[in-house]
Amino acid sequence: MRLRHKPWAKEKIENYPQYVIPNPAQYRGNWDALFKNNQPVHIEVGTGKGRFVTEMAKANPDINYIGIELQESVIVAALDRLIEAELPNVKLLNTNGEDLQEFFAKGDVERIYLNFSDPWPKNRHEKRRLTHDSFLRIYEEILIDNGEIHFKTDNRGLFEYSLVSFTNFGLRLKFVSLDLHKSDFEGNIMTEYEEKFSSKGHPIYRCEVKY
Ligand code: SAM
Repeated sequence: MRLRHKPWAKEKIENYPQYVIPNPAQYRGNWDALFKNNQPVHIEVGTGKGRFVTEMAKANPDINYIGIELQESVIVAALDRLIEAELPNVKLLNTNGEDLQEFFAKGDVERIYLNFSDPWPKNRHEKRRLTHDSFLRIYEEILIDNGEIHFKTDNRGLFEYSLVSFTNFGLRLKFVSLDLHKSDFEGNIMTEYEEKFSSKGHPIYRCEVKY
């Protein structure tokens, strides 16, 4: 993601605590209290500018969505979407996916979405990939039993790496497509990156795995 320095981003985030949750650890084990219902929680790690979580929240009002994004300068674009959409079932966390266990207890999350995660192609950066074994262990600690990861990317190398990582971890493959847009998968919501790369003719790889 190309980053522009946005000195005002921090202040804007702080001005909307109803959308970008300022102290998410207080809801660990009790996200129902924030959403004021007991609907399942689905999270997207690396949510970027937030189109996916916002559109998913519109399409599925019976699910609560949380978009997690590290970069202040990027999450402000997701915040603008939420301000505009005024949806009760979507929130944002400005935090690192490495710290998910601080904010979610075992069983808090039903499903994790990873969309167009940074590929980190160099071997020495392998541990930063969101499908690395160390992340799969973190996800296991917050998901329900039989919880799922839904992953899509245009990056073939990252997709191949991730299938091996999921398999070595013992996850069960439920769905795989090597060309999502030409498959019969219904209800796909395009992310910002998905639109950009598919318009350049890249096939989109997608899989669903289950713990
Ligand atoms: N999911 C969006 C999409 O498909 O349009 C954004 C994809 S962008 C390539 C990846 C995003 O993940 C970036 O905004 C980056 O800041 C974020 N990210 C990378 N590592 C992260 C981490 N460990 N925790 C939270 N966000 C992360």
